[in-house]
Amino acid sequence: MYSKITNLLSITFLLLIGFLSLIGCGGESHEKVEGIRIHGHQSSFMVDDEGNLDQVLTGLFKEKLLEVVVQNDLRECIIIDRNILEFYSIEKKSSEIALNNSLDKPSLANITDIYVSSGRKDFGVYHLDHTDQKRFFSKYELLKRHISFPNHREEKAAFLRPDVKLTIKNINSNKVTLIFDSGEIASEKVSSSGTLTIPERLLFPKFADNDTHAVKAVWENPPERTAFEVHSLITESAKQAPTLAVFLDGLGYKLWSHAKSKGYTNSFPNIDPEPMMVAYPPKTIYNYYLFGTGNLLNEQEPQDKLFSSLSFLQDDGLIIEGSMQIHESSFKQILHAPDQWGDKVDDQIFNTLINEMDRKDFVFAHFHDIDNTAHRHGPYSSEVMNVIKQTGEYLSIINQRWEGNLFVFSDHGLHEYYDPDIESFSGIHYTAKPEDIIGIFIVFTN
Ligand SMILES: [Zn+2]
Ligand SMILES: [Zn+2]
Repeated sequence: MYSKITNLLSITFLLLIGFLSLIGCGGESHEKVEGIRIHGHQSSFMVDDEGNLDQVLTGLFKEKLLEVVVQNDLRECIIIDRNILEFYSIEKKSSEIALNNSLDKPSLANITDIYVSSGRKDFGVYHLDHTDQKRFFSKYELLKRHISFPNHREEKAAFLRPDVKLTIKNINSNKVTLIFDSGEIASEKVSSSGTLTIPERLLFPKFADNDTHAVKAVWENPPERTAFEVHSLITESAKQAPTLAVFLDGLGYKLWSHAKSKGYTNSFPNIDPEPMMVAYPPKTIYNYYLFGTGNLLNEQEPQDKLFSSLSFLQDDGLIIEGSMQIHESSFKQILHAPDQWGDKVDDQIFNTLINEMDRKDFVFAHFHDIDNTAHRHGPYSSEVMNVIKQTGEYLSIINQRWEGNLFVFSDHGLHEYYDPDIESFSGIHYTAKPEDIIGIFIVFTN
């Protein structure tokens, strides 16, 4: 069925709908949406300008888009082959958005969502088992499977069947952890036959439902250690003993394991890190905020200061940062300008840490070189392996010198991706792939 549809698309200009809500949405009042939500591999974009759809999508997505599903609030939809996009333009008339084309086809009014499919196919739901990926369910394909084509092909019509859902089978656990795009996590029971069904509202949440979030991953046997507990571990420790927190940006568990298999971790103190589930999205500002406050970052709300529960330490607390302050804190933050290539700053952070550690009761030191180098050269590059080796040497010295508890952890890892602009591999992180969403955690209690 799937390949048939693909073939049909390649020989047909376009498939359009003329149908109104045959399918269970009629009669409901729909919230007017001031724009179109465009769902790509990485995140959603709001577009409310007039413009040519082709240009809009090309501006938003760097990689080649293969196909596009356009949907309105009445569940009408069309699938557009990438090659014919230039026939369409987005027009915004007062609060109504219509998709028109020069071929005098029916227009699709009140577009709410556009789903794009790229060669990378990483917009969807990951099924993870402990530190590995079992399967990936592309949301685009999920949606496409639920599009019905009436018998009369000449009508070129399609509509979305109700109740788009994802059924995952062969789960070897009686419960799973669901990862949501909001960063929240939830435990969910699995049926005795090992099947879990995710309903449409958790796959394709509507705009109007601010409380509903999309599931990004279904995780069997997730790592016991999570980024959600780091804040209380380090602050409780700091209330009792001198505490040093070393934050190694970008050192994912998969990256660590790779470096270990190649012999680049021999310089680390002799202890293996635990895999740690980090918060979604696996990006620095979100997990840094979680480490510093114990809460998920909500950019709409006023933000807490880092380590405010330790403010009684006053000048005995310190944050050592790279080139800029990322979140506010009542502790002093010492910043460091990177080298002329903008890559390396950890040697300075290490020196500051060595100079300051004897005078402080609590230090939070944010090392940057692994992440920066992995973005530029790709996570599995020799450049990154050498930075990991260097980081291990720093850690060994820090561990010998620090008299107190030492925590070492990371905010995410990176996966490799081919950047067509520079024609080489680089590193990136934002998905629920194991490479991105599993960090490391080590504790040394002295
Ligand atoms: Zn980071
Ligand atoms: Zn990064």
